[in-house]
Amino acid sequence: MSSEVKPDLNHFLSGHLVVNKDRKIIFCNDYIHELINQSDNKVIDTPISKYITKASNIFLDSYIYPLLLTDSTAQEIQITWLNSNGEKIPVIVNIKLDKDGLSYWSVYICINRDKLQNEWLSANKKLEKQSQELFNLATTDPLTGLLNRREFQEQTKKLISQTDRSASTFALLSIDVDFFKHVNDTHGHQVGDKVLIHLAKLFNKNRRANDLVSRFGGEEFILVLPDITNEDAYQLAEKLRLNVERNPIDNIQITLSIGLVVTKKAKKVNLEQLLKTSDKALYMSKATGRNKTSVAELE
Ligand code: GH3
Ligand code: MG
Ligand code: MG
Repeated sequence: MSSEVKPDLNHFLSGHLVVNKDRKIIFCNDYIHELINQSDNKVIDTPISKYITKASNIFLDSYIYPLLLTDSTAQEIQITWLNSNGEKIPVIVNIKLDKDGLSYWSVYICINRDKLQNEWLSANKKLEKQSQELFNLATTDPLTGLLNRREFQEQTKKLISQTDRSASTFALLSIDVDFFKHVNDTHGHQVGDKVLIHLAKLFNKNRRANDLVSRFGGEEFILVLPDITNEDAYQLAEKLRLNVERNPIDNIQITLSIGLVVTKKAKKVNLEQLLKTSDKALYMSKATGRNKTSVAELE
């Protein structure tokens, strides 16, 4: 460097400032004046906290200063600058603390980076929402919000493999609305839909955390209840059946036929077997007058 050339910190395209122990600005270059929108004499001796937002001040107290105390540097940290017109400007700071307690700040405006990051965040949020919607579409029944048949089969198979290992039992309930065709024919399809939605809510309300509740198809529902005794499963089936019998839905008397099957401890079962058996029990309920729960033993 030739001796005639005098370097000038004001020519830097970045802000440089020095903050003392009391967190007051004791030096800054022109970039900082432009950033703050104030002349030199007003900036010196004012606290740095005045030029950053409340949230960034909290961040300064809770993260940046503690980091400086332990590591002496804090790098590539984004905070929000506040100019004298109250405008917020995102900036990146690199800070070094010296042994006398002076901190040396390098400040860079990062509006474009911030904008890009925000765009990326909102695109990401949109994608997350879309993938959640797709997941819901693929796994639930749109009318009732219950698990659809495919998802029910997936989850039940998983449960069966866990049950093999833990040697606990579970129950499967096939529930079918009696004479539902008549409900549709008499009151219309929309009222029929309302009945299905009401039933879905009732089943959901009575489910425990690990129970599976699914709309298996049309007006048939299947409930899978892990870790339950024969008696408790039967009690639940009867509770649901009686609730529906005693509380007309939209002034329409509805009844349910239920087929119940309970697995034995440590017995290996498969889904097809379970469905066949609960279906048999359901058929028994239908054949012997409907509005009842029948129990079937697994062969
Ligand atoms: P059963 O007591 O023997 O079960 O008689 P059912 O009338 O309930 O049985 P059936 O299988 O004859 O009729 C089922 C009816 O369920 C026919 C079909 O239109 C109706 N259904 C199936 N899915 C829906 C739906 O999403 N909404 C409405 N409203 N009705 C549906
Ligand atoms: Mg039916
Ligand atoms: Mg049916």
